[in-house]
Amino acid sequence: MSTTVAIDGPAASGKSTVARLLASRLEGFYINTGDMYRTVTWQAQARGIDLESDGPAVVAMLDDLSLAYELSPEGVPELHLNGSVVPPDRIRNATVTRQVSYAARIPGVRIWMRSRQRDSRSLGTVVMEGRDIGTVILPDAPHKFFITASPEVRARRRLGQEGETDAGATVAAVAAEIAERDRIDSTRAVAPLKPADDALIINTDALTAEQVVDKIMASIEGGERGRRG
Ligand code: C5P
Repeated sequence: MSTTVAIDGPAASGKSTVARLLASRLEGFYINTGDMYRTVTWQAQARGIDLESDGPAVVAMLDDLSLAYELSPEGVPELHLNGSVVPPDRIRNATVTRQVSYAARIPGVRIWMRSRQRDSRSLGTVVMEGRDIGTVILPDAPHKFFITASPEVRARRRLGQEGETDAGATVAAVAAEIAERDRIDSTRAVAPLKPADDALIINTDALTAEQVVDKIMASIEGGERGRRG
C-alpha cells in the first residue's frame, strides 16, 4: 500500500540524506522541495532580478517556468525545468544558497509551488522533504518527522558537502549562513519553518543517517505519532 511521509527541518540538518535513504527502504519516491525553490532562485539570478526586494518580478518570471518532478527511464524522480533536467551544480552552490530564502518568503512563489509539490503524490509512495511539508503541503500525511541537529553539527555536515559552500569557508562562516537562512525561513509570514503538531521530532546530533532511518521506520511500522523527543 502506498503512503506519504513528510520530512521537515532546518538547513543542513541531514534531512536530505535521511529522506533519500528512507524512500529507498520504502521503495518509494524521494521529492526534494528545496531544489524547487533553488531552481526559482537560480532563474531569477540568471535574469538579474533582485530577489531580496523585487518579489513582483520573481512572481512575474514564474509564468516562463514549467517546473515538475518527472520519472527518469530508471524510474527515479528528476526535477525538470522547461523540459530539461535541472543541473544539480546550478542550484546547489553558495550563490543560490545565499539568496534562496528570499525567494521562499515571497507568498506568490509559495502559492505557485503548492500544487506542483502536491501533484507528486500521484507517483505512489512519496517521501517529501522541505520546511512546510507537514504543516502546509501535506497536512494529512500519515507520517511526519522534523529532523534537527545543533548548529555546530549542521555547519560541519554542510562543510563536508562538496560544492555547497565557498572554497575555504570556515565552520563559523557556514554556521552564520545557516543561522541566517533559518532565521528568514522561520520568521516569514507564509508557511514558516516549524514542526507540525503531530510530527515526531528527531535530534540527529548523535545518530548516523541509518540510525535516523531506523527510528523513522520503527515509527512508521509501529504507527506511533505525536511523540516528541
Ligand atoms: O532544503 P534546502 O536547504 O535545499 O532548501 C533551500 C531553501 O528553500 C530553504 O532555506 C528555504 O528557504 C526554502 N524551502 C522552503 N520550503 C520548502 C523547502 C525549501 O521554504 N518546503
